[in-house]
Amino acid sequence: MKVIVAEGAGFCFGVKRALKMAFEAARKGDGTVVTLGAIIHNPQVVARLEREGLRVVKNLDEVEGGTLVVRSHGLPRGVLAEAEAKGMEIVDATCPFVKQAQERAAQLEREGHAVVVVGEKDHPEVLSITGSLEGIATVVDGTAKLPELPEAKRYGVVCQTTQPQEHLSAVVLDLLSKSREIKVFNTICEATFERQESALQTAREVDLMLVVGGRNSANTRRLWELCRDAGCDAYHIETADELEPEWFEKKHQVGITGGASTPQWIVDDVVAAVERI
Ligand code: SF4
Repeated sequence: MKVIVAEGAGFCFGVKRALKMAFEAARKGDGTVVTLGAIIHNPQVVARLEREGLRVVKNLDEVEGGTLVVRSHGLPRGVLAEAEAKGMEIVDATCPFVKQAQERAAQLEREGHAVVVVGEKDHPEVLSITGSLEGIATVVDGTAKLPELPEAKRYGVVCQTTQPQEHLSAVVLDLLSKSREIKVFNTICEATFERQESALQTAREVDLMLVVGGRNSANTRRLWELCRDAGCDAYHIETADELEPEWFEKKHQVGITGGASTPQWIVDDVVAAVERI
């Protein structure tokens, strides 16, 4: 059985940067360093960080002062203001690509466009983008019909950085029938685009695809959906412990990829376990 690891599997630039900042803050801190929600959608990495002294909290009511590490997904402006009002030190590890999506959305709003964000309504990154606006944006996921949209002569569109290109295209196409003026910023990040392309290419070459990453990781789930929709048998796993030997019966080529928040050591573990099987 041949094992192929897709190019670009594992941590992206934004996640590496956020983790470096989080580990540094945790080591310097005195137990008062927190993130709002997990720093990345990978339970194994979050557990390591907790051992270093970084605590995950659900909301700022749970803390008084200390340091807030803003995760790569960013935070709405209101939450940052709340942390500042509590006198917290802020270590901003928002990925520069997410920051750019926030700034583009704010620019569209200033220019008088009704802002549409293509993405998952409750995803923290989308909340950070909509939370960077004065008003309200419409969030659409690109797979369903557009919801009832506000009256607007001009629409402005940005996209969650980890969405597939087709979702953005579908929304823009739909909007074309509703407005004569649409301004689009394609804010899908290159790392996501390249990872999805290489996962798809690998899925087309193999009989079985293993997509490694946190179950709560939207970009890992998206990779799994892409592989599955390409007609390949595909499983989304978090660690090598979940592998079932029967998945590999009569399979000759196995592809492996990992989400942006999947550490290399977990991908390596899966490769080693598959080779043993
Ligand atoms: S996937 Fe892209 S936007 Fe998201 S953290 Fe990584 S580099 Fe940044």
